[in-house]
Amino acid sequence: MTLALKDVVHQGELVSLLVEGTEVSTVRDIPGGVDVLDGRGMEAVPALWDAHVHFREPGNTDAEDLLSGARAAAAGGYGAVCCEPNTRPVMDTLDAIQAFDRRVEALGIPIGVYPKAALTRGQDGAELVDIEAIAPEVTAFSTDGEPVVDRELLIEAFRRTFAFDEEQPREIHAHCEETPRSHDRVVAALGDGPYLARETEIVRLHLEALEAAGMGYLRIQHVSLPETVELVKAFMSRMLDSPGLSPILVTMEVTPHHLRLCQDDIPVVEGQPDPHWKMNPPLRSAKAQRGLLAHLWDFAYIATDHAPHTPASKARPWDDAPFGVIGLETAFGALASFEDNPHLPMQRQLLLDRLSPSNKVMSPDSSRFAQGITLIDWDHVWTVDPDRFYSKSRNCPFAGMTFRGKPMYTIAGGRVVMAEGEVLF
Ligand SMILES: [Zn+2]
Repeated sequence: MTLALKDVVHQGELVSLLVEGTEVSTVRDIPGGVDVLDGRGMEAVPALWDAHVHFREPGNTDAEDLLSGARAAAAGGYGAVCCEPNTRPVMDTLDAIQAFDRRVEALGIPIGVYPKAALTRGQDGAELVDIEAIAPEVTAFSTDGEPVVDRELLIEAFRRTFAFDEEQPREIHAHCEETPRSHDRVVAALGDGPYLARETEIVRLHLEALEAAGMGYLRIQHVSLPETVELVKAFMSRMLDSPGLSPILVTMEVTPHHLRLCQDDIPVVEGQPDPHWKMNPPLRSAKAQRGLLAHLWDFAYIATDHAPHTPASKARPWDDAPFGVIGLETAFGALASFEDNPHLPMQRQLLLDRLSPSNKVMSPDSSRFAQGITLIDWDHVWTVDPDRFYSKSRNCPFAGMTFRGKPMYTIAGGRVVMAEGEVLF
């Protein structure tokens, strides 16, 4: 069935769009016999795309599963997501990746839900997975959850992920932050340092390994410190200046919560910081937050790091509660309504670009609308109520906040999959 989006704003003009599957065209007159959606007051943009989510399947489906996660994504205006491999068991074999894809298909999920593979077996940071066997099925290998700090292992990983397909190298997505499990490895590699503030050091180790490898595509996940951005920028400009361009690319992602919140915002409940605000990397100082905002142009992606945890696990005291916050259903509003930053309302296009697939490195299809369309009402005022989330989890630091701006419709595969907050699958 053909769908017409009547009177939407698209690329600055009031138009109507005709949607047939993944084909989208602008029309002057809407033909008869099509479904018409009245788009007045809304802007039509390529569907949002989140390259960093945790759907907890297999292993912890009390917190989230592929279906609930996909619904949360559609509710937030997303037409595609890429899932991190730190499930239980870890996604470190071709079998696990293929089982994931079969499950998404069996569930009939209409948005794109794509897997990443772990870079090391069991996320142990010691032994690479069978990169050549898995690479045809994924676009990236990730160290999410547990950093790799073995320089020689990283050099080999950059070479093999690049050499597999030089036209479209597989990316390495790096979690450059210490964790309780990786503490001993990080100290052995880098010496003692401030716990949970090793980001810039671990990034430096990755850049050194990348340069030594002489090839490779690296994505730094959830950068939380402006020093890290400056380090990466200096590295990339040195690479571009060096004689004989090396096939090296480093991109960075930033989360809505690190852009929008800082450590001073964390509420204290009965003398304890609220565990709903606990994540890794943690919220930083107000100065670091301002520094990240000033660098918004330098990030290729805004990614939520949607990390569901059950209410019971987040009810524990701060020190015992798990790291992570959810973000799919709040990302757009949190950023669109950032009144503290007078520049952001002027940068709608920048925000959309970082939240949608036009950066296309992760996209199997570079067509702007391949993952669907999101209709946005920039003036819709709403209050975040986690009890109404499609996610199974409630660990949201934005609870109770009022935002201006909301994705009102998500269209994927030529049909409406979310309408005015209601998910239709
Ligand atoms: Zn993550």
